Amino acid sequence: MNQLAPVLDSQSASNSHSDPSHPYIFNESNLLHYEMASMQTMSLIHQAIRRAKKVHSGVNHQQLSQLVANIDLSQPLHSVDKALDEIKALYLDHAVYFHHPKYVAHLNCPVAYPAVIAEQLLSAINSSLDTWDQSAGGTLIEQKLIDWSVQRIGFDSHADGIFTSGGSQSNLMALLLARDDAAKRLHGHVIRDHGLPAQAKRYRIFCSEVSHFSIQKSAALLGLGYNAVVPVSVDKHFKMDLDALDAAMCQARAQGDIPIAVIATAGTTDFGSIDPLASIAERCQKQQVWMHVDAAYGCGLLATDDYTHLLSGIEHADSVTLDYHKSFLQPVSSSAFIVADKQQFQHLTHHADYLNPFSDCPQAAPNLVDKSLQTTRRFDALKLWLTLRIMGSEQVGRVFSSVMALARSSFVTLKQDQEFELVHEPELSTLVFRFIDPQLDDEQLNTLNYQIKDELFKQGECAIARTKFRGINYLKFTLLNPNTAIEDIKTIAAEIKACAYTLKARLFEKETNYE
Ligand SMILES: *Cc1c(COP(=O)(O)O)cnc(C)c1O
Repeated sequence: MNQLAPVLDSQSASNSHSDPSHPYIFNESNLLHYEMASMQTMSLIHQAIRRAKKVHSGVNHQQLSQLVANIDLSQPLHSVDKALDEIKALYLDHAVYFHHPKYVAHLNCPVAYPAVIAEQLLSAINSSLDTWDQSAGGTLIEQKLIDWSVQRIGFDSHADGIFTSGGSQSNLMALLLARDDAAKRLHGHVIRDHGLPAQAKRYRIFCSEVSHFSIQKSAALLGLGYNAVVPVSVDKHFKMDLDALDAAMCQARAQGDIPIAVIATAGTTDFGSIDPLASIAERCQKQQVWMHVDAAYGCGLLATDDYTHLLSGIEHADSVTLDYHKSFLQPVSSSAFIVADKQQFQHLTHHADYLNPFSDCPQAAPNLVDKSLQTTRRFDALKLWLTLRIMGSEQVGRVFSSVMALARSSFVTLKQDQEFELVHEPELSTLVFRFIDPQLDDEQLNTLNYQIKDELFKQGECAIARTKFRGINYLKFTLLNPNTAIEDIKTIAAEIKACAYTLKARLFEKETNYE
Protein backbone atom coordinates (compact mmCIF):
# COMPACT_ATOMS: atom_id res chain seq x y z
CA MET A 1 0.00 0.00 0.00
CA ASN A 2 1.25 3.45 -0.83
CA GLN A 3 2.21 5.64 2.04
CA LEU A 4 -0.09 8.66 1.95
CA ALA A 5 1.77 11.91 2.02
CA PRO A 6 0.28 14.24 4.59
CA VAL A 7 -0.34 17.80 3.49
CA LEU A 8 1.62 19.02 6.45
CA ASP A 9 5.35 18.85 6.06
CA SER A 10 7.32 17.86 9.10
CA GLN A 11 9.75 20.67 8.18
CA SER A 12 8.32 24.07 8.77
CA ALA A 13 7.05 25.54 5.54
CA SER A 14 8.95 28.59 4.38
CA ASN A 15 7.31 29.45 1.11
CA SER A 16 5.34 32.38 2.34
CA HIS A 17 3.28 33.88 -0.42
CA SER A 18 0.64 35.64 1.55
CA ASP A 19 0.08 39.32 1.24
CA PRO A 20 1.12 41.17 4.41
CA SER A 21 -1.45 43.84 3.57
CA HIS A 22 -4.06 41.45 4.99
CA PRO A 23 -2.85 41.39 8.54
CA TYR A 24 -5.60 39.51 10.35
CA ILE A 25 -6.17 36.60 7.99
CA PHE A 26 -5.39 33.30 9.64
CA ASN A 27 -2.52 31.92 7.60
CA GLU A 28 1.14 31.15 7.90
CA SER A 29 2.31 34.73 7.59
CA ASN A 30 0.21 35.71 10.60
CA LEU A 31 0.90 32.70 12.78
CA LEU A 32 3.08 34.66 15.15
CA HIS A 33 0.42 37.30 15.66
CA TYR A 34 -2.14 34.60 16.12
CA GLU A 35 -0.02 32.88 18.74
CA MET A 36 0.56 36.09 20.63
CA ALA A 37 -3.13 36.92 20.54
CA SER A 38 -3.86 33.39 21.74
CA MET A 39 -1.53 33.83 24.70
CA GLN A 40 -3.26 37.08 25.60
CA THR A 41 -6.63 35.40 25.30
CA MET A 42 -5.45 32.51 27.41
CA SER A 43 -4.29 34.87 30.11
CA LEU A 44 -7.66 36.61 30.02
CA ILE A 45 -9.43 33.27 30.41
CA HIS A 46 -7.06 32.36 33.21
CA GLN A 47 -7.88 35.57 35.08
CA ALA A 48 -11.60 35.26 34.46
CA ILE A 49 -11.75 31.72 35.82
CA ARG A 50 -9.52 32.47 38.81
CA ARG A 51 -11.40 35.61 39.72
CA ALA A 52 -14.86 34.10 39.36
CA LYS A 53 -15.43 33.88 43.12
CA LYS A 54 -19.09 34.54 42.55
CA VAL A 55 -21.33 32.92 39.96
CA HIS A 56 -22.30 36.29 38.56
CA SER A 57 -21.56 39.94 39.27
CA GLY A 58 -25.23 40.71 39.80
CA VAL A 59 -25.20 43.36 37.10
CA ASN A 60 -28.62 44.09 35.66
CA HIS A 61 -29.43 44.25 31.98
CA GLN A 62 -29.98 48.01 31.96
CA GLN A 63 -26.48 48.67 33.27
CA LEU A 64 -24.87 46.30 30.83
CA SER A 65 -26.86 47.35 27.81
CA GLN A 66 -25.64 50.91 28.34
CA LEU A 67 -22.05 49.69 28.12
CA VAL A 68 -22.79 47.72 24.96
CA ALA A 69 -24.75 50.57 23.40
CA ASN A 70 -21.75 52.87 23.82
CA ILE A 71 -19.59 50.79 21.52
CA ASP A 72 -19.30 52.16 17.99
CA LEU A 73 -18.85 49.18 15.69
CA SER A 74 -17.72 51.42 12.84
CA GLN A 75 -14.64 52.40 14.87
CA PRO A 76 -12.42 49.30 15.09
CA LEU A 77 -9.72 49.30 17.73
CA HIS A 78 -7.08 47.64 15.54
CA SER A 79 -5.62 46.16 18.67
CA VAL A 80 -6.05 42.77 20.26
CA ASP A 81 -5.10 44.22 23.63
CA LYS A 82 -7.71 46.93 23.60
CA ALA A 83 -10.45 44.70 22.21
CA LEU A 84 -9.76 42.10 24.89
CA ASP A 85 -9.84 44.75 27.59
CA GLU A 86 -13.13 45.93 26.22
CA ILE A 87 -14.63 42.44 26.09
CA LYS A 88 -13.49 41.86 29.65
CA ALA A 89 -15.63 44.78 30.77
CA LEU A 90 -18.57 43.95 28.53
CA TYR A 91 -18.65 40.23 28.98
CA LEU A 92 -16.17 38.42 31.20
CA ASP A 93 -16.63 40.63 34.26
CA HIS A 94 -20.35 39.90 34.21
CA ALA A 95 -20.68 36.47 32.63
CA VAL A 96 -22.51 33.64 34.36
CA TYR A 97 -19.90 31.07 35.33
CA PHE A 98 -21.16 27.53 34.92
CA HIS A 99 -18.03 25.95 36.38
CA HIS A 100 -18.71 27.63 39.74
CA PRO A 101 -19.73 25.03 42.35
CA LYS A 102 -22.69 27.18 43.36
CA TYR A 103 -24.09 27.45 39.85
CA VAL A 104 -26.94 24.95 40.14
CA ALA A 105 -29.50 26.59 37.87
CA HIS A 106 -30.03 25.19 34.40
CA LEU A 107 -28.79 22.18 32.46
CA ASN A 108 -25.37 23.72 31.85
CA CYS A 109 -22.46 21.51 32.72
CA PRO A 110 -18.94 22.53 33.53
CA VAL A 111 -16.84 21.59 30.52
CA ALA A 112 -13.96 19.17 30.16
CA TYR A 113 -10.85 20.99 29.02
CA PRO A 114 -10.02 18.46 26.29
CA ALA A 115 -13.22 19.73 24.65
CA VAL A 116 -12.09 23.33 25.07
CA ILE A 117 -8.81 22.69 23.27
CA ALA A 118 -10.82 20.93 20.58
CA GLU A 119 -12.78 24.17 20.09
CA GLN A 120 -9.52 25.95 19.38
CA LEU A 121 -8.48 23.33 16.87
CA LEU A 122 -11.78 23.07 15.08
CA SER A 123 -12.23 26.77 14.46
CA ALA A 124 -8.62 27.16 13.37
CA ILE A 125 -8.99 24.51 10.67
CA ASN A 126 -12.65 25.40 10.17
CA SER A 127 -13.81 22.24 8.42
CA SER A 128 -17.43 22.04 7.40
CA LEU A 129 -18.97 18.66 7.93
CA ASP A 130 -21.56 18.76 5.19
CA THR A 131 -19.43 17.04 2.60
CA TRP A 132 -16.35 14.87 2.48
CA ASP A 133 -14.62 17.45 0.29
CA GLN A 134 -14.96 20.08 3.04
CA SER A 135 -13.91 17.92 5.95
CA ALA A 136 -12.24 14.61 5.06
CA GLY A 137 -11.20 13.01 8.38
CA GLY A 138 -13.67 15.17 10.28
CA THR A 139 -16.52 13.25 8.64
CA LEU A 140 -15.04 9.92 9.72
CA ILE A 141 -14.47 11.13 13.27
CA GLU A 142 -18.06 12.31 13.59
CA GLN A 143 -19.36 9.05 12.10
CA LYS A 144 -17.31 7.00 14.53
CA LEU A 145 -18.78 8.92 17.48
CA ILE A 146 -22.25 8.36 16.07
CA ASP A 147 -21.53 4.64 15.78
CA TRP A 148 -20.24 4.66 19.35
CA SER A 149 -23.45 6.33 20.54
CA VAL A 150 -25.52 3.86 18.50
CA GLN A 151 -23.83 1.00 20.33
CA ARG A 152 -24.27 2.58 23.73
CA ILE A 153 -28.00 2.94 23.07
CA GLY A 154 -28.14 -0.71 22.06
CA PHE A 155 -29.24 -0.14 18.46
CA ASP A 156 -27.93 -2.46 15.75
CA SER A 157 -26.07 -1.70 12.53
CA HIS A 158 -29.23 -0.41 10.84
CA ALA A 159 -29.03 2.67 13.02
CA ASP A 160 -27.31 5.90 12.14
CA GLY A 161 -27.26 9.50 13.24
CA ILE A 162 -25.85 12.98 12.94
CA PHE A 163 -24.49 15.72 15.18
CA THR A 164 -26.91 18.61 15.63
CA SER A 165 -26.93 22.04 17.25
CA GLY A 166 -28.89 20.81 20.25
CA GLY A 167 -31.78 18.81 21.62
CA SER A 168 -34.32 21.12 20.01
CA GLN A 169 -32.99 20.42 16.54
CA SER A 170 -32.75 16.70 17.30
CA ASN A 171 -36.36 16.62 18.49
CA LEU A 172 -37.44 18.49 15.36
CA MET A 173 -35.71 15.88 13.22
CA ALA A 174 -37.43 13.08 15.14
CA LEU A 175 -40.86 14.56 14.59
CA LEU A 176 -40.10 15.30 10.96
CA LEU A 177 -39.18 11.68 10.30
CA ALA A 178 -42.13 10.42 12.34
CA ARG A 179 -44.52 12.64 10.39
CA ASP A 180 -43.14 11.74 6.97
CA ASP A 181 -42.93 8.05 7.81
CA ALA A 182 -46.57 8.06 8.91
CA ALA A 183 -47.72 9.83 5.74
CA LYS A 184 -45.86 7.34 3.60
CA ARG A 185 -46.97 4.24 5.49
CA LEU A 186 -50.57 5.24 6.08
CA HIS A 187 -51.42 7.19 2.95
CA GLY A 188 -48.63 6.45 0.46
CA HIS A 189 -47.91 10.15 0.52
CA VAL A 190 -44.43 11.70 0.25
CA ILE A 191 -44.48 14.95 2.23
CA ARG A 192 -41.00 15.95 1.08
CA ASP A 193 -42.30 16.19 -2.48
CA HIS A 194 -45.94 17.12 -2.08
CA GLY A 195 -46.32 18.90 1.23
CA LEU A 196 -48.77 17.84 3.90
CA PRO A 197 -51.58 15.41 3.02
CA ALA A 198 -55.13 16.30 4.04
CA GLN A 199 -54.97 13.69 6.83
CA ALA A 200 -52.10 15.56 8.53
CA LYS A 201 -54.66 17.74 10.27
CA ARG A 202 -55.48 14.69 12.36
CA TYR A 203 -51.93 13.68 13.23
CA ARG A 204 -51.35 13.53 16.97
CA ILE A 205 -48.15 13.41 19.01
CA PHE A 206 -48.20 12.22 22.62
CA CYS A 207 -45.77 13.32 25.28
CA SER A 208 -45.92 13.83 29.01
CA GLU A 209 -47.08 17.12 30.45
CA VAL A 210 -43.54 17.75 31.73
CA SER A 211 -41.78 17.08 28.42
CA HIS A 212 -39.67 19.76 26.77
CA PHE A 213 -41.34 22.66 24.96
CA SER A 214 -39.32 21.95 21.81
CA ILE A 215 -41.89 19.22 21.06
CA GLN A 216 -44.65 21.81 20.70
CA LYS A 217 -42.37 24.11 18.78
CA SER A 218 -41.42 21.32 16.38
CA ALA A 219 -45.06 20.41 15.81
CA ALA A 220 -45.74 24.03 14.88
CA LEU A 221 -42.75 24.18 12.54
CA LEU A 222 -43.84 20.96 10.87
CA GLY A 223 -47.25 22.37 10.01
CA LEU A 224 -49.09 20.23 12.56
CA GLY A 225 -49.61 22.94 15.14
CA TYR A 226 -49.30 23.06 18.92
CA ASN A 227 -52.69 21.43 19.21
CA ALA A 228 -51.39 18.27 17.55
CA VAL A 229 -49.40 17.64 20.72
CA VAL A 230 -51.44 15.79 23.34
CA PRO A 231 -50.08 16.24 26.86
CA VAL A 232 -50.26 13.05 28.90
CA SER A 233 -50.41 13.41 32.66
CA VAL A 234 -47.61 12.13 34.87
CA ASP A 235 -47.68 9.92 37.95
CA LYS A 236 -46.34 11.00 41.34
CA HIS A 237 -42.81 10.37 40.14
CA PHE A 238 -43.33 12.75 37.21
CA LYS A 239 -43.18 9.87 34.74
CA MET A 240 -45.68 9.49 31.93
CA ASP A 241 -48.74 7.71 33.30
CA LEU A 242 -49.32 4.64 31.11
CA ASP A 243 -53.04 4.47 31.73
CA ALA A 244 -53.34 8.10 30.78
CA LEU A 245 -51.35 7.39 27.62
CA ASP A 246 -53.58 4.46 26.70
CA ALA A 247 -56.68 6.53 27.33
CA ALA A 248 -55.38 9.49 25.33
CA MET A 249 -54.45 7.34 22.33
CA CYS A 250 -57.72 5.48 22.47
CA GLN A 251 -59.69 8.69 22.68
CA ALA A 252 -57.75 10.16 19.78
CA ARG A 253 -58.57 7.20 17.56
CA ALA A 254 -62.22 7.30 18.61
CA GLN A 255 -62.32 10.95 17.47
CA GLY A 256 -60.81 10.07 14.13
CA ASP A 257 -57.39 11.47 15.01
CA ILE A 258 -54.24 9.61 13.94
CA PRO A 259 -51.56 8.98 16.56
CA ILE A 260 -48.19 9.20 14.79
CA ALA A 261 -45.67 9.44 17.62
CA VAL A 262 -45.05 9.10 21.31
CA ILE A 263 -42.21 11.15 22.74
CA ALA A 264 -40.83 9.54 25.88
CA THR A 265 -38.52 11.71 27.94
CA ALA A 266 -35.48 10.07 29.51
CA GLY A 267 -34.65 12.74 32.05
CA THR A 268 -37.21 15.52 32.13
CA THR A 269 -35.69 18.98 32.28
CA ASP A 270 -37.20 19.81 35.65
CA PHE A 271 -37.55 16.54 37.52
CA GLY A 272 -35.01 14.31 35.79
CA SER A 273 -37.74 11.70 35.63
CA ILE A 274 -37.48 8.90 33.10
CA ASP A 275 -40.68 7.77 31.40
CA PRO A 276 -41.35 3.99 31.41
CA LEU A 277 -39.48 3.37 28.16
CA ALA A 278 -40.05 -0.37 27.77
CA SER A 279 -43.81 -0.13 28.34
CA ILE A 280 -44.10 2.81 25.98
CA ALA A 281 -42.13 0.86 23.37
CA GLU A 282 -44.57 -2.05 23.61
CA ARG A 283 -47.50 0.26 23.01
CA CYS A 284 -45.81 1.99 20.11
CA GLN A 285 -45.02 -1.32 18.46
CA LYS A 286 -48.56 -2.54 18.86
CA GLN A 287 -50.08 0.67 17.59
CA GLN A 288 -47.48 1.22 14.86
CA VAL A 289 -46.54 4.69 15.99
CA TRP A 290 -43.08 6.19 16.08
CA MET A 291 -41.34 6.14 19.45
CA HIS A 292 -38.85 8.90 20.09
CA VAL A 293 -36.81 9.06 23.27
CA ASP A 294 -35.75 12.55 24.26
CA ALA A 295 -32.62 11.72 26.26
CA ALA A 296 -31.18 15.24 25.98
CA TYR A 297 -30.45 15.14 29.69
CA GLY A 298 -30.56 11.43 30.57
CA CYS A 299 -27.96 10.49 27.95
CA GLY A 300 -25.29 10.88 30.63
CA LEU A 301 -26.47 7.50 31.93
CA LEU A 302 -25.04 5.92 28.77
CA ALA A 303 -21.55 6.66 30.08
CA THR A 304 -22.12 5.32 33.59
CA ASP A 305 -21.22 1.82 34.76
CA ASP A 306 -24.00 1.30 37.20
CA TYR A 307 -26.99 3.25 35.91
CA THR A 308 -27.43 2.37 32.23
CA HIS A 309 -30.28 0.07 33.22
CA LEU A 310 -32.36 3.16 33.99
CA LEU A 311 -32.55 3.60 30.21
CA SER A 312 -33.64 0.06 29.49
CA GLY A 313 -36.18 0.01 26.70
CA ILE A 314 -34.43 2.84 24.84
CA GLU A 315 -33.11 0.21 22.41
CA HIS A 316 -36.67 -0.28 21.13
CA ALA A 317 -37.09 3.37 20.16
CA ASP A 318 -37.25 4.58 16.58
CA SER A 319 -35.10 7.58 17.37
CA VAL A 320 -33.18 9.20 20.22
CA THR A 321 -32.00 12.71 21.13
CA LEU A 322 -28.67 13.00 22.95
CA ASP A 323 -27.29 16.28 24.28
CA TYR A 324 -23.60 15.91 25.02
CA HIS A 325 -23.59 19.58 26.05
CA LYS A 326 -25.86 18.68 28.94
CA SER A 327 -24.39 15.52 30.43
CA PHE A 328 -21.10 14.78 28.69
CA LEU A 329 -19.20 17.87 29.90
CA GLN A 330 -19.21 19.38 26.41
CA PRO A 331 -19.26 23.06 25.53
CA VAL A 332 -22.30 24.30 23.60
CA SER A 333 -23.07 23.02 20.98
CA SER A 334 -22.71 19.28 21.00
CA SER A 335 -25.69 17.09 20.41
CA ALA A 336 -26.85 14.18 18.29
CA PHE A 337 -29.91 12.73 16.65
CA ILE A 338 -29.92 8.95 16.26
CA VAL A 339 -32.41 6.90 14.27
CA ALA A 340 -32.84 3.13 14.53
CA ASP A 341 -33.42 2.66 10.81
CA LYS A 342 -31.08 4.79 8.74
CA GLN A 343 -33.36 4.49 5.70
CA GLN A 344 -35.61 7.00 7.46
CA PHE A 345 -33.13 9.75 6.61
CA GLN A 346 -34.54 9.56 3.06
CA HIS A 347 -37.28 11.93 4.25
CA LEU A 348 -34.88 14.83 4.57
CA THR A 349 -32.32 14.04 1.92
CA HIS A 350 -32.34 16.47 -0.93
CA HIS A 351 -31.60 13.80 -3.55
CA ALA A 352 -34.47 11.41 -4.07
CA ASP A 353 -32.15 8.45 -4.13
CA TYR A 354 -30.52 8.51 -0.72
CA LEU A 355 -30.22 4.87 0.01
CA ASN A 356 -26.55 4.43 0.54
CA PRO A 357 -25.21 5.70 3.78
CA PHE A 358 -21.52 5.32 3.30
CA SER A 359 -21.10 2.26 5.45
CA ASP A 360 -23.15 0.40 2.82
CA CYS A 361 -21.43 1.83 -0.19
CA PRO A 362 -17.71 2.06 0.40
CA GLN A 363 -16.98 3.48 -3.07
CA ALA A 364 -18.97 6.68 -2.58
CA ALA A 365 -17.45 9.48 -0.54
CA PRO A 366 -19.53 10.03 2.59
CA ASN A 367 -21.46 13.30 2.67
CA LEU A 368 -23.08 13.82 6.04
CA VAL A 369 -25.27 16.62 4.66
CA ASP A 370 -27.65 13.87 3.51
CA LYS A 371 -28.60 13.31 7.13
CA SER A 372 -28.71 16.89 8.35
CA LEU A 373 -31.07 19.86 8.44
CA GLN A 374 -28.01 22.09 8.32
CA THR A 375 -25.69 22.54 5.35
CA THR A 376 -22.52 24.24 6.58
CA ARG A 377 -21.92 22.56 9.90
CA ARG A 378 -19.33 22.87 12.65
CA PHE A 379 -16.99 20.02 13.52
CA ASP A 380 -18.45 19.87 17.04
CA ALA A 381 -17.73 16.16 17.13
CA LEU A 382 -14.05 16.89 17.67
CA LYS A 383 -14.83 18.08 21.21
CA LEU A 384 -16.41 14.80 22.23
CA TRP A 385 -13.66 12.93 20.39
CA LEU A 386 -10.83 14.57 22.35
CA THR A 387 -12.83 14.16 25.56
CA LEU A 388 -13.19 10.44 24.99
CA ARG A 389 -9.59 10.04 23.80
CA ILE A 390 -8.02 12.04 26.62
CA MET A 391 -10.40 11.72 29.53
CA GLY A 392 -12.33 8.61 28.57
CA SER A 393 -16.04 7.89 28.76
CA GLU A 394 -15.64 6.13 32.09
CA GLN A 395 -14.61 9.38 33.76
CA VAL A 396 -17.52 11.20 32.13
CA GLY A 397 -19.81 8.51 33.53
CA ARG A 398 -18.24 8.80 36.95
CA VAL A 399 -19.00 12.52 36.97
CA PHE A 400 -22.62 11.83 36.09
CA SER A 401 -22.94 9.16 38.80
CA SER A 402 -21.43 11.54 41.33
CA VAL A 403 -23.89 14.35 40.61
CA MET A 404 -26.73 11.84 40.88
CA ALA A 405 -25.43 10.88 44.31
CA LEU A 406 -25.18 14.55 45.26
CA ALA A 407 -28.81 15.05 44.26
CA ARG A 408 -29.83 12.24 46.58
CA SER A 409 -27.87 13.59 49.52
CA SER A 410 -29.23 17.07 48.83
CA PHE A 411 -32.71 15.58 48.94
CA VAL A 412 -31.99 14.03 52.34
CA THR A 413 -30.53 17.29 53.64
CA LEU A 414 -33.38 19.51 52.52
CA LYS A 415 -36.02 17.04 53.59
CA GLN A 416 -34.91 17.37 57.20
CA ASP A 417 -35.66 21.06 57.04
CA GLN A 418 -39.23 22.11 57.97
CA GLU A 419 -38.93 25.19 55.81
CA PHE A 420 -38.55 23.25 52.58
CA GLU A 421 -41.17 21.22 50.82
CA LEU A 422 -39.78 18.65 48.40
CA VAL A 423 -41.89 17.41 45.55
CA HIS A 424 -39.94 14.44 44.28
CA GLU A 425 -37.08 12.11 44.98
CA PRO A 426 -34.38 12.77 42.41
CA GLU A 427 -33.92 10.13 39.74
CA LEU A 428 -31.11 11.96 37.94
CA SER A 429 -29.55 15.13 39.30
CA THR A 430 -32.22 17.79 39.73
CA LEU A 431 -34.08 18.69 42.87
CA VAL A 432 -37.39 20.58 42.82
CA PHE A 433 -38.65 22.09 46.07
CA ARG A 434 -40.01 25.28 47.54
CA PHE A 435 -39.64 27.41 50.61
CA ILE A 436 -42.67 27.12 52.88
CA ASP A 437 -43.88 29.03 55.90
CA PRO A 438 -47.14 28.36 57.78
CA GLN A 439 -47.68 32.12 58.15
CA LEU A 440 -48.02 32.53 54.39
CA ASP A 441 -50.90 31.51 52.15
CA ASP A 442 -50.50 29.82 48.76
CA GLU A 443 -50.45 33.03 46.83
CA GLN A 444 -47.84 34.60 49.08
CA LEU A 445 -45.73 31.47 48.87
CA ASN A 446 -45.96 31.59 45.11
CA THR A 447 -44.83 35.21 45.06
CA LEU A 448 -42.05 34.56 47.52
CA ASN A 449 -40.63 31.52 45.72
CA TYR A 450 -40.86 33.36 42.42
CA GLN A 451 -38.83 36.27 43.80
CA ILE A 452 -36.22 34.18 45.59
CA LYS A 453 -34.66 33.03 42.34
CA ASP A 454 -34.31 36.56 40.92
CA GLU A 455 -33.09 37.96 44.19
CA LEU A 456 -30.34 35.33 44.50
CA PHE A 457 -29.27 35.97 40.92
CA LYS A 458 -28.92 39.65 41.75
CA GLN A 459 -26.71 38.82 44.71
CA GLY A 460 -24.59 36.55 42.51
CA GLU A 461 -23.26 34.22 45.21
CA CYS A 462 -25.17 31.31 43.72
CA ALA A 463 -27.59 30.68 40.88
CA ILE A 464 -30.62 28.45 41.16
CA ALA A 465 -33.57 27.88 38.81
CA ARG A 466 -37.30 28.21 39.12
CA THR A 467 -40.10 26.18 37.62
CA LYS A 468 -43.85 25.98 37.74
CA PHE A 469 -45.90 22.82 38.03
CA ARG A 470 -49.70 22.82 38.14
CA GLY A 471 -49.82 26.46 39.17
CA ILE A 472 -47.24 26.31 41.95
CA ASN A 473 -43.86 28.01 41.76
CA TYR A 474 -40.90 25.90 42.79
CA LEU A 475 -37.18 26.33 43.09
CA LYS A 476 -34.83 23.95 41.34
CA PHE A 477 -31.26 22.74 41.63
CA THR A 478 -29.71 21.21 38.54
CA LEU A 479 -26.57 19.43 39.64
CA LEU A 480 -24.01 18.69 36.93
CA ASN A 481 -20.79 19.83 38.55
CA PRO A 482 -18.72 17.18 40.35
CA ASN A 483 -17.07 19.98 42.32
CA THR A 484 -20.31 20.98 43.97
CA ALA A 485 -20.20 19.49 47.45
CA ILE A 486 -23.01 18.89 49.91
CA GLU A 487 -21.52 21.80 51.89
CA ASP A 488 -22.23 24.07 48.92
CA ILE A 489 -25.80 22.82 48.85
CA LYS A 490 -26.16 23.61 52.56
CA THR A 491 -24.78 27.10 51.98
CA ILE A 492 -27.19 27.68 49.10
CA ALA A 493 -30.08 26.43 51.25
CA ALA A 494 -29.08 28.93 53.93
CA GLU A 495 -28.88 31.69 51.33
CA ILE A 496 -32.35 30.78 50.07
CA LYS A 497 -33.73 31.02 53.59
CA ALA A 498 -32.03 34.31 54.36
CA CYS A 499 -33.41 35.67 51.11
CA ALA A 500 -36.88 34.31 51.90
CA TYR A 501 -36.90 36.05 55.31
CA THR A 502 -35.96 39.38 53.74
CA LEU A 503 -38.61 39.03 51.07
CA LYS A 504 -41.18 37.99 53.61
CA ALA A 505 -40.43 41.05 55.72
CA ARG A 506 -40.83 43.20 52.61
CA LEU A 507 -44.10 41.47 51.79
CA PHE A 508 -45.52 42.29 55.22
CA GLU A 509 -44.15 45.83 55.14
CA LYS A 510 -45.98 46.42 51.88
CA GLU A 511 -49.20 45.05 53.29
CA THR A 512 -49.03 47.27 56.35
CA ASN A 513 -48.33 50.26 54.13
CA TYR A 514 -51.55 49.68 52.25
CA GLU A 515 -53.67 49.75 55.36
C1 LIG B 1 -32.54 20.89 27.09
C2 LIG B 1 -33.54 19.96 26.60
C3 LIG B 1 -33.94 19.97 25.26
C4 LIG B 1 -33.48 21.03 24.29
O1 LIG B 1 -32.12 20.91 24.02
P1 LIG B 1 -31.26 22.15 23.52
O2 LIG B 1 -29.91 21.55 23.38
O3 LIG B 1 -31.35 23.21 24.56
O4 LIG B 1 -31.83 22.60 22.22
C5 LIG B 1 -34.84 19.00 24.83
N1 LIG B 1 -35.31 18.10 25.69
C6 LIG B 1 -34.97 18.06 26.99
C7 LIG B 1 -35.56 17.01 27.88
C8 LIG B 1 -34.07 18.99 27.49
O5 LIG B 1 -33.74 18.98 28.79
